[in-house]
Amino acid sequence: MTFHHVQEFLKTIAPLANISAKELTRLQTPNHAHTATITAGGKTYSAYRVQFNDARGPYKGGIRFHPEVNEEEVKALAFWMTLKTAVADIPFGGGKGGVAVDPKKLTPAELQELSRAYVRAFSSHLGAEKDIPAPDVYTNSQIMAWMLDEYEKLNGNHEPGMITGKPLELGGSLVRDIATALGGVYVLEEAVKKVKVKDRTVAIQGFGNAGMNAALLLQDLGYTIVAVSDSQGGIYNPRGLAIRDVMKTKEKTGSVQNHTEGKRISNDEIIKLNCSVFLPSALSGVITTENAAEVKAKIIVELANGPTTPAADRILHKNGVLVIPDILANAGGVTVSYFEWVQNKYTYYWKEEEIRERLKEKMVNAFSALWTSYEGKKYDFRTATYIHAIQKVLMAEKLRGRV
Ligand code: GLU
Repeated sequence: MTFHHVQEFLKTIAPLANISAKELTRLQTPNHAHTATITAGGKTYSAYRVQFNDARGPYKGGIRFHPEVNEEEVKALAFWMTLKTAVADIPFGGGKGGVAVDPKKLTPAELQELSRAYVRAFSSHLGAEKDIPAPDVYTNSQIMAWMLDEYEKLNGNHEPGMITGKPLELGGSLVRDIATALGGVYVLEEAVKKVKVKDRTVAIQGFGNAGMNAALLLQDLGYTIVAVSDSQGGIYNPRGLAIRDVMKTKEKTGSVQNHTEGKRISNDEIIKLNCSVFLPSALSGVITTENAAEVKAKIIVELANGPTTPAADRILHKNGVLVIPDILANAGGVTVSYFEWVQNKYTYYWKEEEIRERLKEKMVNAFSALWTSYEGKKYDFRTATYIHAIQKVLMAEKLRGRV
């Protein structure tokens, strides 16, 4: 995804959302795009922090460590975070960070050096009331812990709310580890009340944090998980897979494909499987014009960011498939990040049940507000979601007198 896609997208949505030329320019323009060159293990890397929009609150969004990170992509992701926090109705704006690095090639000491160097480069722009990073692709709670420590060392005081997705021991929140999957599950439970499905069969592409936890949670709710996959490929069993056993296979052998109770399938076949619900939970751009017409699922829950191309989306809509877009489907992660930030402010920590309940309330409310704005409209659910989010951001901009 590049920022060019965002510009194009905004132009097509502008007439539907009654956006003026001035508002369009405001929405297309990131507030700040900070860049730096940082060093770890004697090598230098390009690092970014884009602060897209803060009309609704401090900038919020993850930091990814990935070889393909570039400024245009980080800008686009920061824009989508602006809409995601609006959809989730949490008091944040949108930001995103990244380093162009393959973290798998770094030693643990170099990874720590890189994480600390990132914070040193951007520390004056970060803070609990300014810009609050979190984990994203190939970053985790340990990296958040190093970043927090570096920030607190530089500033000489404790400020756990400057970053979320921390380990529990340093002020992290219960449920944050499974929040993305759990949020998606809550939304799916609402969607099946609206869309008729013949059974509760589910296929899940991706067996990382989001995909694996979604498989577990859905299985425990009585859904039949007929297929799962990882980067090497997938496994299919129409009678249902025992997910805890699949997890053991993955742990022992490195891939779910080696699970013996099922048939091996490819990452393309899983998209076209006979099932009621499909959860793309790994890569972007996997549902394309090549396979969209063959999708048999009635509901798609986008746990990954951007798994459906715009052209594929039109085909799915024509075929009556309900696509729950990423900025709603995977908003559970940033929502529990918000709860973590609130708990840090209180210095008082909630019980697991409380957090699950609050997350459920947020996700169910978001879904029902969006469904109301979608029902009876000519456009699809995704478009309704985007319009709703954009209007919320613009309202905050207007109240501040910026547009
Ligand atoms: N990186 C996650 C996302 O894209 C979480 C962001 C956060 O918790 O701030 O939604």
